[in-house]
Amino acid sequence: MVNVTEQKCACADCVCIVKVQDAIKKHGHNYCSDACAEGHPKGSGCQHDGCACHG
Ligand SMILES: [Zn+2]
Ligand SMILES: [Zn+2]
Ligand SMILES: [Zn+2]
Repeated sequence: MVNVTEQKCACADCVCIVKVQDAIKKHGHNYCSDACAEGHPKGSGCQHDGCACHG
């Protein structure tokens, strides 16, 4: 049995839900992607369907 906890990506504009165990961890937060974790330095989104975050 694996206890899976899901959390919203810590990027403010991001609507993605990430599994904590699979999340990109940065600054003590859980992110869905490197782009979110880095604060979208290049203006690229997280590339997940239905999400328009760009930092
Ligand atoms: Zn997203
Ligand atoms: Zn995200
Ligand atoms: Zn984001």
